[in-house]
Amino acid sequence: MRSRRNKRRRKNTAITVVTILVLASVLGAVLYLFQTPVVTISPKLRYAIGETVSLFDLVTEVKYGTLKNENAVFESQKAGTQQVTVQIENRLGQIREETFVLEFYDDVPPTIEAPEGLTVMKGDKPDLLQGVTAQDDNGASCAVSLSGDYDTSVPGSYPLTFSASDSSGNVATRTFTLTVLALPFDDNGKLVEGTYTTRKGFSLEVKGGIAYVDGHLIANKSYPLPKTHTSNWMSPETSKAYQKMASAAAAAGHNLNVKSAYRSWYDQDWIFRDYCRRDGVENAETYSARPGHSEHQTGLAMDLVASGTQESKQPRQAAALAWLNENAYKYGFILRYPENKTNETGYIFESWHYRYVGEELASILYNNGDWITMEDYFGIDSVYRGY
Ligand SMILES: [Zn+2]
Repeated sequence: MRSRRNKRRRKNTAITVVTILVLASVLGAVLYLFQTPVVTISPKLRYAIGETVSLFDLVTEVKYGTLKNENAVFESQKAGTQQVTVQIENRLGQIREETFVLEFYDDVPPTIEAPEGLTVMKGDKPDLLQGVTAQDDNGASCAVSLSGDYDTSVPGSYPLTFSASDSSGNVATRTFTLTVLALPFDDNGKLVEGTYTTRKGFSLEVKGGIAYVDGHLIANKSYPLPKTHTSNWMSPETSKAYQKMASAAAAAGHNLNVKSAYRSWYDQDWIFRDYCRRDGVENAETYSARPGHSEHQTGLAMDLVASGTQESKQPRQAAALAWLNENAYKYGFILRYPENKTNETGYIFESWHYRYVGEELASILYNNGDWITMEDYFGIDSVYRGY
């Protein structure tokens, strides 16, 4: 009896153990299959714009499941935040989503392209923002503003600042110096004695009512000569240089004649009035100077022609002027009013008008036949300021 009971008890115990084991494994399997996946997100969720970031970089660990969209790559060209969704698949193939915020930041200010400074003359109205640009590191262009006070009617040096900010608020600044130079004129356009600087940095001296730039006498629409200024037909230096040039021209088959060299203030007054009567003031102004403004009053300028018979005059003249155009600079003469330089000289093209400036400056202004004007080279203008 006893042994039977014992036997049954042992059997019951075995069944219980097996049952427990089966239940445990079923439970284990169920737990295993239904276990919630765990995703660990990287603590670094801020990146500089332009960096390539994939989900792989943002998820440091996945437990009890697999990442589904691990190859996702994010738009990184614009600064700002974006929602990132991670898809995790558990062991049963069920997909769960988890979201977090990824941020791209821009801490690089834009780059400003601007000159370091600008020199203008008193009264100029420069557009200081012209040609000044700013570009952000992502290639977008940014607006540029200028701060600081300046007054172009008062000569002086003005420190100014360009600024530009990008869409993330990064600000770039650049310093800029505006230099306003004094003009050698008073409000009536009359020359004021003294030493000045031209907009191209040359020294301009007004002495005895005459302006000299870098030592060269200037007579144009801006810079007049006193009524009392007289000269020989040609100044001694001009005459000497001209003789040399005329000999060389003759050797090349061109007989030069001086049609007009020095003219007094009064001669010019008469000539200019005559032209005005004939062509009207507006036309006369394009080729003839008001008295006091003619280069002929300096004794350094001359109108040249080629001598010849009536029939041969035209081609001879053209050939002589062509020779002068190519050779005059070697003797210190410049073509004073070149073609297409009216806005600089104030006068139309005069193929016959030459001015003595010395060989050094003449070679520079000759510029291999592409004449530079005195106005452009020295940085001066030729406009009437008063009469
Ligand atoms: Zn002339």
